[in-house]
Formats: sequence, C-alpha cells, structure tokens
Amino acid sequence: MAIRTILIYPNEKLRIKAEPVPIKKISSPKIQSIIDDMFETLYATRNGSGLAATQVAIPLRIFIIDISPNSDNPLCFINPEIIAKEGQTNKIEGCLSVPGGVQECVKRARRVVLKAFDRYGKPLEVTEEKNFYARCFQHEIDHLDGKLFIDHLVGLARRRADRRISRWHKLHRHAN
Ligand SMILES: [Zn+2]
Repeated sequence: MAIRTILIYPNEKLRIKAEPVPIKKISSPKIQSIIDDMFETLYATRNGSGLAATQVAIPLRIFIIDISPNSDNPLCFINPEIIAKEGQTNKIEGCLSVPGGVQECVKRARRVVLKAFDRYGKPLEVTEEKNFYARCFQHEIDHLDGKLFIDHLVGLARRRADRRISRWHKLHRHAN
C-alpha cells in the first residue's frame, strides 16, 4: 500500500471525467491496490471523510468514504450512479483538494438513491436521506465528473473561497 498525492485545485486533472471500471476488472490486483492506496491516503489526512480516484490522478469511477469516528467503516463505491434524488439541503462542505480551509454551504439533494458496485464487484443500491452520506455521495460523484464543490458557489461565498485559495497558494508557493 502507498499514500498517493492528493491533487490540489486548480490542478487540471481534477477536471477529467473519470471512466467506468470494467466489471470484470474490479477484482484485479491493480484495481484492488488502487482502492487500498485510496484508503491509506484518506486515513493519512486524518480529517478527510471521502476521496474520489480523480483526486489521486486516477481517472476511474471509484470513490471511498469513511465517516466513522474510529476510521473503521471503509466504504467503497465503484461506477456509482445516483438513480433518484429528492428535496434540498444547504450545509457546510470542504474538500481535501481545495486548499486554504475553504468551507462553504452547498445546496444538495436531501435524499439520494445510489447504485454502484462494492470492491468485490457486488451490486449495491443504497438510499440515504438527511445525513452526511447523502451529501458525501453527491460531492464524490461530482469529483468523478470533474466538478468541485466550489463550482456550486456564487457571489460572496465564491469570492471568499477564491481569496482563501489564493492566499494559501501564495503561502505555499515556495514549498511546492
Ligand atoms: Zn472533495
């Protein structure tokens, strides 16, 4: 296993639309080691709740989530699709790829039905409502489509985010 580098906005690889994983390849050592690396990378951040393969420069439709307090509930979703959504909530989000500690409210569907495969290639259908998972699913699928949560921001929130991001880049210019 290895910790991969998380791409930081505005890296253009974050804009790539990821390709589906061929079902027969899910159990391959290559895909399994990508998933293991993604978990190791997520846990190494200590504060991340999810990671999309796009964020570690792998253009495949895979995302992982672990929002348990002890990091012992690893969930992996391959070729995820939201097949139904309903309602709206507006809550705070952040992202491992967006620097500067940017946290802003984003409007998301309140209830989603997610179809995907797990890391063993088993088909899943999950319904989540009014909780953090529903929001995470939408945030991570956005990544697989080359979108970031800051793309949803307008006006003052967007300007505040841009300011924080450019301040961060100025501070880290020499370190990178
Ligand atoms: Zn993110």
